[in-house]
Amino acid sequence: DPRLEAISEAIRVIPHFPKQGIMFQDITTLLLNHKVFKHTVDIFVDRYKNMDISVVAGIEARGFMFGPSIALAIGAKFVPLRKPGKLPGEVIYEAYELEYGEDCLEMHIGAVQQGEKAVVIDDLVATGGTLSAAIKLLERMGAEVVECACVIGLPEVKGQSRLDGKPLYILVEPR
Ligand code: IMP
Repeated sequence: DPRLEAISEAIRVIPHFPKQGIMFQDITTLLLNHKVFKHTVDIFVDRYKNMDISVVAGIEARGFMFGPSIALAIGAKFVPLRKPGKLPGEVIYEAYELEYGEDCLEMHIGAVQQGEKAVVIDDLVATGGTLSAAIKLLERMGAEVVECACVIGLPEVKGQSRLDGKPLYILVEPR
């Protein structure tokens, strides 16, 4: 798919952000390019449009930049999975490991119904810890996670086509 090369090239790499030694994959430059932004959304939409998916769950913050467009195009709801203390209603939460320390994702109770089919969207997967927490939240509410999808997959998950037993769909690897 020639669109993948354009997507890869539109992602800017910023060395040493947010700290020394990290090669930060910056998708904001992809968002600046309407054609490539549309290619990215289109690829996900083509993949999920006929799969009876009624939930697109996006992970704060960069999952919010792709998830809603995909949800609208496939006729699904968008469910934000947020960092602690941001959602105003009653929530369930899942903690997950970071390289140093721990973080947490929250989801509103009642956002999904038992038996709904869901995809989880984020910009990038590294260890898979964040996506694992998202899968747990959705499954605790009785949703079926069909797949997790990211624009970029770091080499840590390279070749790994599943995450916690769920398929993992990745468009590009870091250049
Ligand atoms: P994981 O939980 O180790 O898979 O890390 C994935 C999370 O970290 C995602 O929510 C990403 O948005 C974020 N992340 C880690 N590294 C980068 C990066 O280089 N660019 C953008 N997001 C990143």
